[in-house]
Amino acid sequence: MADEKPTRLRDYGLQSERLLWPTKGPSRFEEELGVEEIERALGITTLEKAVRWAQTKSMWPDTFGLACCAIEMMSIVSARYDIARFGMEAFRSSPRQADLLIVSGRVAHKMAEPIRQIYDQMLEPKWVIAMGACASSGGMFNNYTILQGVDRIIPVDIYVPFCPPRPEALMEGIIRLHEAHLAGVPPAYERNGVAT
Ligand code: SF4
Repeated sequence: MADEKPTRLRDYGLQSERLLWPTKGPSRFEEELGVEEIERALGITTLEKAVRWAQTKSMWPDTFGLACCAIEMMSIVSARYDIARFGMEAFRSSPRQADLLIVSGRVAHKMAEPIRQIYDQMLEPKWVIAMGACASSGGMFNNYTILQGVDRIIPVDIYVPFCPPRPEALMEGIIRLHEAHLAGVPPAYERNGVAT
């Protein structure tokens, strides 16, 4: 859901005769600070932004690994990478408690159905990271057993390249996902109009 960017103090719900007067331009205060500065200086925000901020600080991943990439994914909870600083160290064993599906590894055709089922059981909003060359495009496994990209069965928000991606690369993907969500970019299933 893309929301309108506030341009005036009155857009934040602040009311005064001057602010609400239809023909009055921006006040000197608004002009000098600028809208971004007003938001920071006064500590005001919109409900949508506050909710999005909270969601990025509790984006719990599903406990799910498919192949070699999963080993790199597991290490992000270690002290070295410390995903707990984003409130994301709680890998959930039930998709119903998870917000993020990290597809880490090659997807065999026989795994396509279980993955789609896990994705369908996750509550909205939900996000998907395709981790590594195999999950993104089939990688080196251009054969009849491997799905040539997990985006053929579920909508993907972020692709993390390499074989295998280092944990730093996955962290980069997670941070980019947070940035996109904070900026108001809807999840991939909404953008692509995919039935969930
Ligand atoms: S991208 Fe490389 S490390 Fe990851 S699952 Fe494929 S072969 Fe394994």
